[in-house]
Amino acid sequence: MNLHEYQAKEILKKFGLPVLRGKSYVNNLDSIESDLIDLKGPPWVVKSQIHAGGRGAGYFKNSFNEKGGVQIIFEKNQVSNIASSMMGNILVTKQTGEQGKLVNRIFIEEGCDIDREFYCSLLVDRTKSQLMMMLSTAGGVDIEEVAMLNPNKIINIHFSSNKDIKLDEKLQQKLNINKNQFDELNSIINKLLIAFNSIDASTIEINPLVLNKQGNFVLLDAKISLDDNALFRHPELFELKDLTEEDPLELQAAQNDMNYVKLEGSIGCMVNGAGLAMATMDIIKQYGEEPANFLDLGGTANKERVIMGFKIIQSDPNVKSILINIFGGIIHCDMIANGIVEAVKELKFKLPLVVRFQGTNSNEGRDVINNSVLGLISIDDFADAAKKAVELSKV
Ligand code: GDP
Ligand code: MG
Repeated sequence: MNLHEYQAKEILKKFGLPVLRGKSYVNNLDSIESDLIDLKGPPWVVKSQIHAGGRGAGYFKNSFNEKGGVQIIFEKNQVSNIASSMMGNILVTKQTGEQGKLVNRIFIEEGCDIDREFYCSLLVDRTKSQLMMMLSTAGGVDIEEVAMLNPNKIINIHFSSNKDIKLDEKLQQKLNINKNQFDELNSIINKLLIAFNSIDASTIEINPLVLNKQGNFVLLDAKISLDDNALFRHPELFELKDLTEEDPLELQAAQNDMNYVKLEGSIGCMVNGAGLAMATMDIIKQYGEEPANFLDLGGTANKERVIMGFKIIQSDPNVKSILINIFGGIIHCDMIANGIVEAVKELKFKLPLVVRFQGTNSNEGRDVINNSVLGLISIDDFADAAKKAVELSKV
Protein backbone atom coordinates (compact mmCIF):
# COMPACT_ATOMS: atom_id res chain seq x y z
CA MET A 1 0.00 0.00 0.00
CA ASN A 2 1.31 3.41 -0.98
CA LEU A 3 0.89 6.62 0.95
CA HIS A 4 0.60 10.16 -0.34
CA GLU A 5 3.43 12.59 0.31
CA TYR A 6 1.43 14.57 2.89
CA GLN A 7 0.54 11.39 4.78
CA ALA A 8 4.15 10.21 4.71
CA LYS A 9 5.37 13.55 6.03
CA GLU A 10 2.83 13.57 8.84
CA ILE A 11 4.12 10.17 9.95
CA LEU A 12 7.79 11.07 9.61
CA LYS A 13 7.24 14.25 11.61
CA LYS A 14 6.04 12.11 14.52
CA PHE A 15 9.41 10.34 14.44
CA GLY A 16 11.20 13.67 14.83
CA LEU A 17 12.23 14.07 11.21
CA PRO A 18 12.60 17.58 9.79
CA VAL A 19 9.71 18.33 7.44
CA LEU A 20 8.20 21.69 6.61
CA ARG A 21 4.83 22.86 7.81
CA GLY A 22 1.96 22.19 5.43
CA LYS A 23 -1.79 21.73 4.98
CA SER A 24 -3.55 19.06 2.96
CA TYR A 25 -6.84 19.29 1.07
CA VAL A 26 -9.09 16.50 -0.16
CA ASN A 27 -11.43 17.56 -2.97
CA ASN A 28 -12.24 20.87 -1.29
CA LEU A 29 -10.03 23.97 -1.18
CA ASP A 30 -12.40 26.35 0.61
CA SER A 31 -10.23 27.14 3.62
CA ILE A 32 -6.97 27.89 1.77
CA GLU A 33 -6.98 31.66 2.23
CA SER A 34 -7.39 31.51 6.00
CA ASP A 35 -5.02 28.54 6.37
CA LEU A 36 -2.18 30.45 4.75
CA ILE A 37 -1.89 32.61 7.87
CA ASP A 38 -0.27 29.63 9.60
CA LEU A 39 2.21 28.91 6.80
CA LYS A 40 5.35 30.99 6.56
CA GLY A 41 5.99 32.45 3.12
CA PRO A 42 6.63 33.55 0.47
CA PRO A 43 7.22 31.32 -1.22
CA TRP A 44 4.61 28.61 -0.78
CA VAL A 45 4.76 25.32 -2.63
CA VAL A 46 1.59 23.85 -4.10
CA LYS A 47 1.91 20.10 -4.59
CA SER A 48 -0.45 17.71 -6.39
CA GLN A 49 -0.88 14.52 -4.40
CA ILE A 50 -0.93 11.42 -6.61
CA HIS A 51 0.71 8.02 -6.22
CA ALA A 52 3.39 8.73 -8.79
CA GLY A 53 6.69 10.56 -8.88
CA GLY A 54 8.01 13.11 -11.32
CA ARG A 55 5.18 15.52 -10.51
CA GLY A 56 7.40 18.58 -10.71
CA ALA A 57 8.39 17.82 -14.29
CA GLY A 58 4.89 16.58 -15.23
CA TYR A 59 2.13 18.46 -17.06
CA PHE A 60 -1.64 18.83 -16.79
CA LYS A 61 -4.06 17.63 -19.45
CA ASN A 62 -6.79 20.01 -20.66
CA SER A 63 -5.56 22.95 -18.65
CA PHE A 64 -4.51 26.54 -18.82
CA ASN A 65 -2.06 25.56 -16.11
CA GLU A 66 1.13 25.15 -18.10
CA LYS A 67 3.45 24.37 -15.24
CA GLY A 68 3.90 21.06 -13.46
CA GLY A 69 2.32 19.31 -10.49
CA VAL A 70 4.68 21.00 -8.00
CA GLN A 71 4.77 24.81 -8.19
CA ILE A 72 6.55 27.43 -6.15
CA ILE A 73 4.38 30.51 -5.68
CA PHE A 74 5.58 33.91 -4.47
CA GLU A 75 2.31 35.84 -4.50
CA LYS A 76 -0.02 34.92 -1.71
CA ASN A 77 -3.17 35.64 -3.71
CA GLN A 78 -2.03 33.20 -6.42
CA VAL A 79 -1.79 30.14 -4.15
CA SER A 80 -5.51 29.43 -4.20
CA ASN A 81 -5.76 29.88 -7.99
CA ILE A 82 -2.91 27.51 -8.67
CA ALA A 83 -4.29 24.93 -6.25
CA SER A 84 -7.72 25.17 -7.95
CA SER A 85 -6.16 24.73 -11.36
CA MET A 86 -4.59 21.45 -10.18
CA MET A 87 -7.54 20.04 -8.25
CA GLY A 88 -9.75 17.86 -10.43
CA ASN A 89 -7.25 18.01 -13.27
CA ILE A 90 -5.27 15.14 -14.78
CA LEU A 91 -1.54 15.16 -14.16
CA VAL A 92 0.74 13.26 -16.52
CA THR A 93 4.24 12.36 -15.32
CA LYS A 94 6.95 9.95 -16.41
CA GLN A 95 5.49 7.42 -13.99
CA THR A 96 1.75 7.74 -14.70
CA GLY A 97 1.79 6.85 -18.38
CA GLU A 98 -0.09 8.82 -21.06
CA GLN A 99 -3.44 8.49 -19.30
CA GLY A 100 -2.19 10.44 -16.28
CA LYS A 101 -3.76 10.55 -12.83
CA LEU A 102 -6.64 12.56 -11.46
CA VAL A 103 -5.57 15.00 -8.76
CA ASN A 104 -8.07 15.10 -5.92
CA ARG A 105 -5.70 15.98 -3.11
CA ILE A 106 -3.44 19.01 -2.77
CA PHE A 107 -0.70 19.74 -0.27
CA ILE A 108 0.44 23.30 0.41
CA GLU A 109 3.73 23.72 2.15
CA GLU A 110 6.03 26.45 3.38
CA GLY A 111 8.78 27.09 0.84
CA CYS A 112 12.41 26.24 1.34
CA ASP A 113 15.62 27.87 0.08
CA ILE A 114 17.50 24.95 -1.40
CA ASP A 115 21.28 24.85 -1.35
CA ARG A 116 21.83 21.20 -2.34
CA GLU A 117 19.62 18.22 -3.16
CA PHE A 118 20.40 14.65 -2.05
CA TYR A 119 18.66 11.34 -2.54
CA CYS A 120 18.04 8.98 0.36
CA SER A 121 15.96 5.82 0.51
CA LEU A 122 15.52 2.77 2.68
CA LEU A 123 14.37 -0.55 1.30
CA VAL A 124 14.61 -4.28 1.81
CA ASP A 125 17.38 -5.96 -0.14
CA ARG A 126 15.85 -9.41 -0.57
CA THR A 127 18.95 -11.05 -1.97
CA LYS A 128 20.87 -10.15 1.20
CA SER A 129 17.91 -10.30 3.62
CA GLN A 130 18.97 -6.94 4.95
CA LEU A 131 17.80 -3.38 5.05
CA MET A 132 19.58 -1.21 2.56
CA MET A 133 19.97 2.52 2.29
CA MET A 134 20.70 4.28 -0.97
CA LEU A 135 22.33 7.68 -0.73
CA SER A 136 23.30 10.02 -3.52
CA THR A 137 24.45 13.57 -4.04
CA ALA A 138 22.38 13.55 -7.26
CA GLY A 139 19.03 14.29 -5.63
CA GLY A 140 15.85 15.73 -7.08
CA VAL A 141 16.03 13.62 -10.23
CA ASP A 142 14.91 10.05 -10.95
CA ILE A 143 17.19 7.62 -9.17
CA GLU A 144 16.71 5.22 -12.11
CA GLU A 145 18.27 7.85 -14.34
CA VAL A 146 21.20 8.34 -11.95
CA ALA A 147 21.67 4.57 -11.79
CA MET A 148 21.91 4.45 -15.56
CA LEU A 149 24.03 7.53 -16.28
CA ASN A 150 26.05 7.96 -13.07
CA PRO A 151 25.98 4.70 -11.11
CA ASN A 152 29.10 5.73 -9.19
CA LYS A 153 27.07 8.56 -7.63
CA ILE A 154 24.95 6.06 -5.69
CA ILE A 155 26.16 4.74 -2.37
CA ASN A 156 24.52 1.54 -1.08
CA ILE A 157 24.78 0.81 2.63
CA HIS A 158 23.51 -2.40 4.23
CA PHE A 159 22.41 -2.56 7.85
CA SER A 160 22.72 -5.74 9.86
CA SER A 161 21.21 -4.13 12.94
CA ASN A 162 18.45 -1.57 13.12
CA LYS A 163 19.75 0.37 16.08
CA ASP A 164 22.31 3.11 16.56
CA ILE A 165 23.68 3.15 13.06
CA LYS A 166 26.88 5.10 12.64
CA LEU A 167 27.74 6.05 9.09
CA ASP A 168 31.31 5.53 7.97
CA GLU A 169 33.20 8.79 8.59
CA LYS A 170 34.61 8.71 5.07
CA LEU A 171 31.11 9.48 3.88
CA GLN A 172 31.33 13.02 5.21
CA GLN A 173 33.94 13.90 2.63
CA LYS A 174 32.26 11.90 -0.09
CA LEU A 175 29.03 13.81 0.44
CA ASN A 176 30.96 17.05 0.88
CA ILE A 177 29.21 18.13 4.09
CA ASN A 178 30.59 19.51 7.36
CA LYS A 179 30.81 17.72 10.71
CA ASN A 180 27.54 19.18 12.04
CA GLN A 181 25.71 18.21 8.92
CA PHE A 182 27.22 14.74 9.03
CA ASP A 183 25.94 14.32 12.60
CA GLU A 184 22.55 15.60 11.54
CA LEU A 185 22.48 13.11 8.66
CA ASN A 186 23.36 10.30 11.07
CA SER A 187 20.47 11.30 13.28
CA ILE A 188 18.07 11.51 10.32
CA ILE A 189 19.03 8.04 9.14
CA ASN A 190 18.54 6.55 12.58
CA LYS A 191 15.11 8.16 12.84
CA LEU A 192 14.19 6.91 9.37
CA LEU A 193 15.20 3.40 10.41
CA ILE A 194 13.05 3.57 13.53
CA ALA A 195 10.13 4.83 11.45
CA PHE A 196 10.71 2.12 8.82
CA ASN A 197 10.56 -0.65 11.41
CA SER A 198 7.73 0.82 13.46
CA ILE A 199 5.31 1.15 10.56
CA ASP A 200 6.45 -2.02 8.73
CA ALA A 201 7.41 -0.09 5.63
CA SER A 202 8.76 -1.73 2.52
CA THR A 203 10.25 1.49 1.13
CA ILE A 204 10.82 5.01 2.32
CA GLU A 205 12.18 7.34 -0.32
CA ILE A 206 13.22 10.92 0.34
CA ASN A 207 13.94 12.66 -2.94
CA PRO A 208 15.08 15.30 -2.48
CA LEU A 209 16.58 15.42 0.98
CA VAL A 210 17.87 18.97 0.86
CA LEU A 211 20.37 21.13 2.63
CA ASN A 212 18.73 24.52 2.96
CA LYS A 213 20.59 27.84 2.76
CA GLN A 214 20.89 27.81 6.56
CA GLY A 215 22.85 24.54 6.25
CA ASN A 216 20.21 22.23 7.72
CA PHE A 217 18.72 19.07 6.28
CA VAL A 218 15.02 19.05 5.33
CA LEU A 219 12.92 16.23 3.85
CA LEU A 220 11.34 18.00 0.88
CA ASP A 221 9.60 15.01 -0.69
CA ALA A 222 8.64 11.70 0.91
CA LYS A 223 7.27 8.48 -0.45
CA ILE A 224 6.30 5.54 1.75
CA SER A 225 5.19 2.06 0.73
CA LEU A 226 3.87 -0.19 3.45
CA ASP A 227 4.19 -3.96 3.60
CA ASP A 228 0.66 -5.22 2.87
CA ASN A 229 1.31 -8.41 4.84
CA ALA A 230 1.90 -6.40 8.01
CA LEU A 231 -0.96 -3.95 7.55
CA PHE A 232 -3.18 -5.88 9.95
CA ARG A 233 -0.88 -4.61 12.70
CA HIS A 234 -1.58 -0.99 11.75
CA PRO A 235 -5.29 -0.31 11.41
CA GLU A 236 -4.59 3.42 11.72
CA LEU A 237 -2.34 3.27 8.65
CA PHE A 238 -4.82 1.17 6.70
CA GLU A 239 -7.26 4.07 7.17
CA LEU A 240 -4.94 6.19 5.02
CA LYS A 241 -5.57 4.08 1.94
CA ASP A 242 -6.76 6.24 -0.96
CA LEU A 243 -9.23 4.03 -2.80
CA THR A 244 -9.28 6.37 -5.81
CA GLU A 245 -5.65 5.34 -6.42
CA GLU A 246 -6.48 1.63 -6.61
CA ASP A 247 -7.34 -0.28 -9.78
CA PRO A 248 -11.16 -0.69 -9.64
CA LEU A 249 -11.00 -4.31 -10.80
CA GLU A 250 -8.38 -5.19 -8.21
CA LEU A 251 -10.53 -3.56 -5.54
CA GLN A 252 -13.60 -5.49 -6.64
CA ALA A 253 -11.64 -8.74 -6.49
CA ALA A 254 -10.25 -7.95 -3.05
CA GLN A 255 -13.75 -7.23 -1.76
CA ASN A 256 -14.66 -10.76 -2.87
CA ASP A 257 -11.59 -12.35 -1.24
CA MET A 258 -9.86 -12.99 -4.52
CA ASN A 259 -6.43 -11.88 -5.64
CA TYR A 260 -6.44 -10.17 -9.00
CA VAL A 261 -3.58 -8.31 -10.61
CA LYS A 262 -4.06 -6.82 -14.03
CA LEU A 263 -1.24 -7.44 -16.52
CA GLU A 264 -0.61 -6.38 -20.09
CA GLY A 265 -1.10 -9.60 -22.05
CA SER A 266 -4.06 -11.15 -23.90
CA ILE A 267 -4.78 -14.44 -22.11
CA GLY A 268 -7.10 -14.28 -19.15
CA CYS A 269 -6.27 -16.74 -16.36
CA MET A 270 -8.57 -18.09 -13.70
CA VAL A 271 -6.85 -20.40 -11.26
CA ASN A 272 -7.22 -21.64 -7.70
CA GLY A 273 -4.08 -21.17 -5.60
CA ALA A 274 -1.31 -18.63 -6.02
CA GLY A 275 1.37 -21.21 -6.88
CA LEU A 276 -0.73 -22.75 -9.64
CA ALA A 277 -1.57 -19.25 -10.89
CA MET A 278 2.15 -18.45 -11.16
CA ALA A 279 2.82 -21.71 -12.99
CA THR A 280 -0.07 -20.97 -15.36
CA MET A 281 1.36 -17.55 -16.17
CA ASP A 282 4.79 -19.09 -16.74
CA ILE A 283 3.55 -21.70 -19.16
CA ILE A 284 1.62 -19.10 -21.18
CA LYS A 285 4.83 -17.13 -21.55
CA GLN A 286 6.64 -20.30 -22.51
CA TYR A 287 4.27 -20.68 -25.45
CA GLY A 288 5.03 -17.17 -26.58
CA GLU A 289 2.07 -15.17 -25.24
CA GLU A 290 1.52 -12.95 -22.21
CA PRO A 291 -1.07 -13.42 -19.44
CA ALA A 292 -3.70 -10.66 -19.13
CA ASN A 293 -3.89 -11.09 -15.39
CA PHE A 294 -3.10 -13.04 -12.29
CA LEU A 295 -6.30 -14.29 -10.70
CA ASP A 296 -6.35 -16.56 -7.70
CA LEU A 297 -9.89 -17.64 -6.89
CA GLY A 298 -8.69 -18.76 -3.48
CA GLY A 299 -8.80 -22.13 -1.75
CA THR A 300 -12.51 -21.91 -1.11
CA ALA A 301 -13.50 -21.02 -4.65
CA ASN A 302 -17.18 -21.48 -5.39
CA LYS A 303 -19.68 -20.80 -8.14
CA GLU A 304 -20.27 -17.18 -7.11
CA ARG A 305 -16.56 -16.47 -7.24
CA VAL A 306 -16.21 -18.03 -10.65
CA ILE A 307 -18.96 -15.73 -11.91
CA MET A 308 -17.27 -12.74 -10.29
CA GLY A 309 -13.94 -13.87 -11.80
CA PHE A 310 -15.50 -13.93 -15.26
CA LYS A 311 -16.96 -10.49 -14.80
CA ILE A 312 -13.59 -9.10 -13.79
CA ILE A 313 -11.68 -10.75 -16.64
CA GLN A 314 -14.37 -9.76 -19.12
CA SER A 315 -14.03 -6.09 -18.32
CA ASP A 316 -10.45 -6.15 -19.57
CA PRO A 317 -10.69 -5.39 -23.32
CA ASN A 318 -7.23 -6.90 -23.99
CA VAL A 319 -8.36 -10.45 -23.22
CA LYS A 320 -8.57 -12.65 -26.33
CA SER A 321 -8.90 -16.11 -24.76
CA ILE A 322 -9.18 -17.63 -21.30
CA LEU A 323 -7.41 -20.48 -19.58
CA ILE A 324 -9.08 -21.88 -16.49
CA ASN A 325 -6.81 -24.13 -14.47
CA ILE A 326 -8.34 -25.76 -11.42
CA PHE A 327 -6.81 -28.27 -9.05
CA GLY A 328 -9.60 -29.93 -7.11
CA GLY A 329 -8.76 -30.58 -3.50
CA ILE A 330 -11.31 -29.39 -1.01
CA ILE A 331 -13.22 -27.84 -3.87
CA HIS A 332 -14.81 -30.15 -6.41
CA CYS A 333 -14.12 -29.68 -10.10
CA ASP A 334 -17.73 -30.46 -11.08
CA MET A 335 -18.98 -27.65 -8.86
CA ILE A 336 -16.58 -25.23 -10.57
CA ALA A 337 -17.62 -26.65 -13.95
CA ASN A 338 -21.25 -25.85 -13.19
CA GLY A 339 -20.21 -22.37 -12.15
CA ILE A 340 -18.36 -21.90 -15.44
CA VAL A 341 -21.32 -23.07 -17.53
CA GLU A 342 -23.70 -20.84 -15.62
CA ALA A 343 -21.40 -17.83 -15.85
CA VAL A 344 -20.91 -18.28 -19.60
CA LYS A 345 -24.68 -18.41 -20.10
CA GLU A 346 -25.47 -15.56 -17.74
CA LEU A 347 -22.82 -13.22 -19.11
CA LYS A 348 -23.30 -14.34 -22.74
CA PHE A 349 -19.58 -14.92 -22.78
CA LYS A 350 -18.16 -15.19 -26.31
CA LEU A 351 -14.38 -15.54 -25.94
CA PRO A 352 -12.64 -18.90 -26.49
CA LEU A 353 -12.32 -20.75 -23.24
CA VAL A 354 -10.04 -23.66 -22.33
CA VAL A 355 -10.61 -25.54 -19.08
CA ARG A 356 -8.21 -27.88 -17.35
CA PHE A 357 -9.29 -29.90 -14.33
CA GLN A 358 -7.21 -32.15 -12.11
CA GLY A 359 -8.01 -33.65 -8.72
CA THR A 360 -11.30 -34.15 -6.92
CA ASN A 361 -14.20 -34.92 -9.29
CA SER A 362 -12.20 -33.90 -12.34
CA ASN A 363 -13.93 -36.52 -14.53
CA GLU A 364 -17.35 -35.25 -13.54
CA GLY A 365 -16.22 -31.66 -14.16
CA ARG A 366 -14.91 -32.54 -17.60
CA ASP A 367 -18.27 -34.14 -18.46
CA VAL A 368 -20.13 -30.98 -17.45
CA ILE A 369 -17.88 -28.90 -19.72
CA ASN A 370 -18.05 -31.31 -22.66
CA ASN A 371 -21.83 -31.67 -22.45
CA SER A 372 -22.48 -27.97 -22.21
CA VAL A 373 -22.66 -27.33 -25.99
CA LEU A 374 -21.29 -23.84 -25.41
CA GLY A 375 -18.09 -24.45 -27.36
CA LEU A 376 -16.01 -24.77 -24.19
CA ILE A 377 -12.86 -26.86 -24.53
CA SER A 378 -11.69 -29.25 -21.85
CA ILE A 379 -8.07 -30.43 -21.96
CA ASP A 380 -6.45 -32.48 -19.19
CA ASP A 381 -2.81 -31.89 -19.92
CA PHE A 382 -1.42 -28.63 -18.52
CA ALA A 383 0.91 -27.89 -21.45
CA ASP A 384 -1.68 -28.82 -24.10
CA ALA A 385 -4.29 -26.63 -22.43
CA ALA A 386 -1.94 -23.64 -22.36
CA LYS A 387 -0.91 -24.22 -25.96
CA LYS A 388 -4.56 -24.30 -27.02
CA ALA A 389 -5.39 -21.07 -25.15
CA VAL A 390 -2.44 -19.35 -26.84
CA GLU A 391 -3.51 -20.66 -30.25
CA LEU A 392 -7.10 -19.48 -29.76
CA SER A 393 -6.01 -16.02 -28.64
CA LYS A 394 -4.62 -15.46 -32.14
CA VAL A 395 -7.71 -16.50 -34.07
P1 GDP B 1 8.32 15.05 -7.55
O1 GDP B 1 8.62 15.82 -8.83
O2 GDP B 1 7.05 14.26 -7.67
O3 GDP B 1 9.46 14.21 -7.12
O4 GDP B 1 8.03 16.15 -6.42
P2 GDP B 1 9.04 16.87 -5.38
O5 GDP B 1 8.31 17.06 -4.13
O6 GDP B 1 10.32 16.13 -5.30
O7 GDP B 1 9.28 18.29 -6.02
C1 GDP B 1 9.98 18.46 -7.24
C2 GDP B 1 11.09 19.47 -7.08
O8 GDP B 1 10.56 20.73 -6.73
C3 GDP B 1 12.08 19.15 -5.98
O9 GDP B 1 13.07 18.26 -6.39
C4 GDP B 1 12.65 20.52 -5.68
O10 GDP B 1 13.73 20.81 -6.54
C5 GDP B 1 11.50 21.46 -5.99
N1 GDP B 1 10.88 21.94 -4.74
C6 GDP B 1 9.95 21.31 -3.97
N2 GDP B 1 9.65 22.05 -2.88
C7 GDP B 1 10.42 23.18 -2.95
C8 GDP B 1 10.59 24.35 -2.13
O11 GDP B 1 10.01 24.51 -1.09
N3 GDP B 1 11.47 25.29 -2.59
C9 GDP B 1 12.16 25.16 -3.72
N4 GDP B 1 13.00 26.11 -4.11
N5 GDP B 1 12.05 24.08 -4.51
C10 GDP B 1 11.19 23.10 -4.14
MG1 MG C 1 10.66 14.03 -5.56
